[in-house]
Amino acid sequence: MTQEGPPVTTPFNPSDPLDIDTLLSDEELAVRDTVRGFCADRITPHIADWFERGELPAARELAREMGKLGLLGMHLEGYGCAGTSAVAYGLACLELEACDSGIRSLVSVQGSLAMFAIRRFGSEEHKSRWLPRMAAGEAIGCFGLTEPDAGSDPGSMRTTARRDGGDWVLNGRKMWITNGSIADVAVVWARTEQGVQGFVVPTETPGFAAPLMHRKLSLRASVTSELILDDVRLPASAALPEGTGLRAPLSCLNEARYGIVWGATGAARSALETALDYAKSREQFGRPIAAFQLTQAKLADMALEVHKALLVALHLGRLKDEHRLRPDQVSFGKLNNVREALDVCRTARTILGANGISLEYPVIRHMANLESVLTYEGTSEMHTLVLGQALTGTPAFRG
Ligand code: FAD
Repeated sequence: MTQEGPPVTTPFNPSDPLDIDTLLSDEELAVRDTVRGFCADRITPHIADWFERGELPAARELAREMGKLGLLGMHLEGYGCAGTSAVAYGLACLELEACDSGIRSLVSVQGSLAMFAIRRFGSEEHKSRWLPRMAAGEAIGCFGLTEPDAGSDPGSMRTTARRDGGDWVLNGRKMWITNGSIADVAVVWARTEQGVQGFVVPTETPGFAAPLMHRKLSLRASVTSELILDDVRLPASAALPEGTGLRAPLSCLNEARYGIVWGATGAARSALETALDYAKSREQFGRPIAAFQLTQAKLADMALEVHKALLVALHLGRLKDEHRLRPDQVSFGKLNNVREALDVCRTARTILGANGISLEYPVIRHMANLESVLTYEGTSEMHTLVLGQALTGTPAFRG
């Protein structure tokens, strides 16, 4: 028989119904609060305008400020990186994306894709040349894997790298590359006679161009670009010594997806908070709409999904900090948390009625952004297939 303790007197906290904060260390809470404060001061006042204009005008300045806060490559060790825990990094992603997925994308691509690739696969020269400047936000990086005809199946990439004397010569085209037009360095994946190989490409190299992609209706406050590689000649030392085979870029994507597991939860939290505030103040039929059972059911369901998603993110973060996190578990988190975040945003939008489609509120912006998040770093279908294979033992990627 279990013994009953004294009655629990801690009140219900609508922002933290499961008391998840009690599972976080003081250091983790401090990181979260710092990033939350930075977003409130520097990003929230402008983000709707940037989104409406389809620009990220202060990207370089923001990168330097985020560098000062230690947010760039923050979970990497050495070379000026902060070396925080995976959970602290996740909490930072959550707060950034509660502000806007585009801002989180800037940080994810910098830290988890470009810097991670250089840290994990680069030579000592690559690391010491690029990582300290990237950690400080003095240099921006991008990661070029996707091509016009190679998205979910990057193994079918057409960009080539051929040897010419001691040099490499790269030709091809990448698409949908975050940070491309503002990058100082691009990590580019190309096909050689030996297979897929990663290269560190300074963007000033002749033959390299990164025109902006326009007419996006999602991630509008994020720089998205094509990369054009037209006889880009690089020294032999530009190849990432350990960055060979498709597993190399896929392991970088796994890092970035981990941040998305947290980030999407931030967007969902923002939508839930907005809907709750709105429902309490908006009156129809002589009562706040929060007093109607249908609205309460929506709010309760949203709260369930937001806080379940947070528990999933935290659990995966603890596994990652213990070096026990598997890629299929990251797929589990990305698939669930992004899908549910999108659903939370859609429900929040209905609670706001017509105001739900206005940029005066963050909800439609998060909803539009999450459509990209559902697709990049592996589409929801790809993560479903990863889990399907893990469950059944049978891969179904090729029909
Ligand atoms: P496709 O692969 O053509 O897929 C189309 C549809 O078919 C999807 O629903 C997909 O799930 C489905 N599908 C494909 N194969 C199968 C299958 N075997 N079984 C079932 N369904 C299948 N890429 C980078 O390299 N770097 C970046 O920085 C970057 N940033 C991005 C930023 C934004 C805003 C966006 C939108 C994309 C970005 N991407 C980036 C590209 C992104 O990773 C790709 O869009 C993604 O991998 C999907 O590729 P695709 O768009 O070509 O879709």
